[in-house]
Amino acid sequence: MATIGFIGLGNMGAPMAGNLVKAGHRVLGFDLSPACRDAASALGVEIMPSGAAAVSEADAVVTMLPAGKHVLAVLEDLLTAAKPGTLFIDSSTIDIASCRLAHGQAAKAGMLMLDAPVSGGVGGAAAGTLTFMVGGSEAAFAKGQALIQPMAGRIVHCGDASAGQAAKICNNMILGISMIAVSEAFVLGEKLGLSPQALFDVASTSSGQCWSLTSYCPVPGPVPKSPANNDYKPGFAASLMLKDLRLSQSAAAEVGALTALGKHAEEIYSAFEGAGHGDTDFSGIINAIRHGND
Ligand code: NAD
Repeated sequence: MATIGFIGLGNMGAPMAGNLVKAGHRVLGFDLSPACRDAASALGVEIMPSGAAAVSEADAVVTMLPAGKHVLAVLEDLLTAAKPGTLFIDSSTIDIASCRLAHGQAAKAGMLMLDAPVSGGVGGAAAGTLTFMVGGSEAAFAKGQALIQPMAGRIVHCGDASAGQAAKICNNMILGISMIAVSEAFVLGEKLGLSPQALFDVASTSSGQCWSLTSYCPVPGPVPKSPANNDYKPGFAASLMLKDLRLSQSAAAEVGALTALGKHAEEIYSAFEGAGHGDTDFSGIINAIRHGND
């Protein structure tokens, strides 16, 4: 069993670290927030006084932080404190440019590194069923796969450095666009006098079928577990969807990719957040489409 340093014990990090503890690993954790430290401690994580203290004895380090700037801000200290050859696994969702910088810094310090963002949300983090999209060398992946396993339902090695982040950003751009498409169809159907259940029954087995419709339907009724049945409580908050759409647009601008619908989806979620709905589940966008952003 390994000793794992875990930095960032928030909504996702604490339950992920808890699953590493359950698998028999020794997990040394750090978070800036006392409440997050307490929650992780209750799951068996040994809380350390700093990030550097959490990684100095570790065989591997997992970071689960809000954004690229947070990862780059802590990495230098962590790389200095860790033993040579330590495997760094960054599971935060971050921009491609910061991800590549992080890989470069790790390599310069003689460490192995994987970018390994996840999908599956807080529920998947607690259940240990997250999908991990992994970028990095074969050697780093061979070392990291077994460590990731207790937190994962599925692990996909997507390619070299930053391929995991690229997969995450592209997947979530599809998700943001498809949720808007499904919502527009339900609102148009309503105005045409079509019942939501009838539209669901047709589209869920026809060419309009997609995850936003069949697993996460934005109207109450057809998919009983979707957030629409729980007053649009997240789930996956609109502010996180907006974050990922912004990442897709900065990546698209860097490489000159035409993502017209991705850009429009970003604008739609930006207006939704601006109207105070950032904490609403992202499927709540249907209410803005139906009534405007008030
Ligand atoms: P969160 O805000 O709950 O947790 C982030 C934690 O990092 C916070 O507890 C914060 O105190 C801590 N932190 C920030 N700077 C730090 C530092 N310098 N040292 C130590 N700790 C520090 O966020 P989350 O929901 O757990 O998400 C984490 C990452 O996972 C994000 O990149 C997010 O986009 C991604 N993600 C989230 C979800 C989700 O459903 N919440 C799903 C998939 C991916």
